[in-house]
Amino acid sequence: MSRSVFHAVQPDTGRATLDAGRADVPAFALTFDDGPDLVPIERWLKALEDKGARGTFFFTGEWLDRHPRLARRIIARGHELAHHSYHHRRMGEIEDQALFLEEIRLAEIAYQEATGRPAPAFFRFPYLHYRERNLQWLSGIGYVAVGGFDSGDWAGIDAESIAANVAPALESGIVVVHHCNDIARGTPGALPVILDAAAERGLKAVVVSDMLRALSRHPGYRSWRLSITVPADGPDLPAEDWRPAGAPEEARLRTDRNAARHAPARADVPPPRLAYRMDPGDEQLRKRP
Ligand SMILES: [Zn+2]
Repeated sequence: MSRSVFHAVQPDTGRATLDAGRADVPAFALTFDDGPDLVPIERWLKALEDKGARGTFFFTGEWLDRHPRLARRIIARGHELAHHSYHHRRMGEIEDQALFLEEIRLAEIAYQEATGRPAPAFFRFPYLHYRERNLQWLSGIGYVAVGGFDSGDWAGIDAESIAANVAPALESGIVVVHHCNDIARGTPGALPVILDAAAERGLKAVVVSDMLRALSRHPGYRSWRLSITVPADGPDLPAEDWRPAGAPEEARLRTDRNAARHAPARADVPPPRLAYRMDPGDEQLRKRP
């Protein structure tokens, strides 16, 4: 089989990258990028847990903003969660350092808001796309970019093909790049085969932070001081409560000419969110002097 250009099973030392862990420790890491919107994440979690394994999930800040409860569930179940930039852009194309670091910062804030925890100072580049200058910028904030061995599951191939790509490559220190998104539906089905093959070789599935610690590169965490200001715009009604008014509401509005008396006492509190449509007849009636 062909090996990805990203793969090199040699422990990294000083650089801001981790492509593989220690070759003398019988451990490997299963990692999962992106975050699904349609396919239940439970499929990945269960496939790992059925074999007693832990995974590392690299999810975008956008996903973390959309699914904070799922983010907390991943951590509560004993897996590791880190980010994958905020927008999933090709980070190597960002020439401006401040803009590049803003992508990281936004993802960290989304992580912290979703999980209540500081974000780990390691992540995975979208498309594993980066340039040397990006690594220098990451070094400046104590960051590690995690690479690994490409499982090929991003192409939407079936479970057998994914297992056939990964199982022969399993060895101490390997970091396998899988996906946990709506395309890589074959991945959960491949995990039992991969984990059985790893167990036969005496390899234990560990999370990325364990791998970093084994290399004496203790992962840092970055935390932001967040304060959320809730605007003083009256009761915060959930969006589900919004609905266009039907005939009963309109009838009530027509008959209850005292409705205006129920106006809020304070000018800065808006009227209740009752969406209604006034028919043209009523509008003309109102305009009459
Ligand atoms: Zn990705």
